[in-house]
Amino acid sequence: MAGCVFCQIVSGEREAEKVYEDKSTLAFYDIKPVAPIHVLVIPKIHLASILEIKDKDLAYELFNALQKTVRVLNLEDRGFRVITNTGKDGNQTVFHLHFHILGGKSLTGF
Ligand code: 5GP
Ligand code: ZN
Repeated sequence: MAGCVFCQIVSGEREAEKVYEDKSTLAFYDIKPVAPIHVLVIPKIHLASILEIKDKDLAYELFNALQKTVRVLNLEDRGFRVITNTGKDGNQTVFHLHFHILGGKSLTGF
């Protein structure tokens, strides 16, 4: 999608430090980390948010990519948090579906 920063990362037009990639997903480090480890997992196709996931295979592939990325990051044993901000109240700023993986410290709050 024209003008979408995450589509630009998928196409290679914009650089990102990749952590995991397969045919339908990509994981890369967040440019403004809010935890010692902060990685984003996205579908390669442009979907605005979690509300647009309709395809069963893609739903599986996204959870598979989250698990694989967590393993690459070595976070399985110590734990982590997965967040997908959605819409206005969710304070979503990039309207290409993404899951934040946060870890590397004990996360407080909810
Ligand atoms: P949201 O606020 O939509 O949940 O999260 C968007 C995230 O994307 C933010 O944490 C922001 O730092 C990250 N981000 C925005 N633009 C870029 C970029 O060009 N490259 C990378 N690696 N991360 C980005
Ligand atoms: Zn996009």
